[in-house]
Amino acid sequence: MLYVDGKWVEADELAVHPEDRGYNFGDGIYEVVRIYKGKMYQWDAHLTRLFRSAREIKLDLPWTAAELTDIAQQLIAKNNLTTDDDATLYLQVTRGVAPRLHDIPSGIRPVIMGFVRRKERPLADMKKGLTAKLVEDIRWLRCDIKTLNLLGAVLVKQYAKDAGAQESILHRNGIITECSASNLFAVKDNALYTHPADHLILHGITRQTVIDLAKANGIPVHEEAFDIQFLKQADELFLSSTTAEVMPIVAVDGQPVGSGQVGPMVQKLQQLFEQHIYSEVLV
Ligand SMILES: *Cc1c(COP(=O)(O)O)cnc(C)c1O
Repeated sequence: MLYVDGKWVEADELAVHPEDRGYNFGDGIYEVVRIYKGKMYQWDAHLTRLFRSAREIKLDLPWTAAELTDIAQQLIAKNNLTTDDDATLYLQVTRGVAPRLHDIPSGIRPVIMGFVRRKERPLADMKKGLTAKLVEDIRWLRCDIKTLNLLGAVLVKQYAKDAGAQESILHRNGIITECSASNLFAVKDNALYTHPADHLILHGITRQTVIDLAKANGIPVHEEAFDIQFLKQADELFLSSTTAEVMPIVAVDGQPVGSGQVGPMVQKLQQLFEQHIYSEVLV
């Protein structure tokens, strides 16, 4: 069951209005939240980011945090998720329906939609690692906003897949930014390196959790931009996101990263991340 604009419906009963600005312009925002064992993980951080994304696109959300939390909890309940279920919760808000003009209309009501989907943790890939291809970052200059405008992300992912790789690592003029839907970390001499949280990357909640866990465990973290040459000399690489968690990258453009195996730093961070999940949702 989906929640759409105040109603509970099945996907095939749903019609999108032809002039919904999300549909016409990608004019809206979204969040993907992890559900472990029937419980939401880091919901408050996602809610905070949703409100920030809304503010940055000049969209006033007419719901309180408590109302959005209630919608999320009802999605879990109505879809019968139990303590046996791992899942994701998708929540999006479009600016609403108005005659198709670029100007932001006043006085229209945003349209909210949410669904949950059962989804296992990607344990096999986390053990084995992914292959990646370097791709030019062709996205816009407000990558910090989690907007529905994802064509740049769609294309860079496809360029990687067309070349036989599983993920794209993006660079802007040779500076590594992130991946198509996840943040990127390099490991060099037992320290972590990742692009600063500015307008060129999405400020991942998993990224921040990894940084906090690393620092709390004495692992130095450098939020500094680095280039392709540094990437190619990294001991280990990994990406981070809500659904991918701490995901090793073992080859870039057909060349092995470090030993070409999942390295000790990634294994350590995977362990710390799992403990964090357990501490938050499995108590
Ligand atoms: C959502 C997203 C991420 C990861 O953010 P999390 O909060 O960790 O899920 C990273 N990069 C992009 C482009 C994203 O859309």
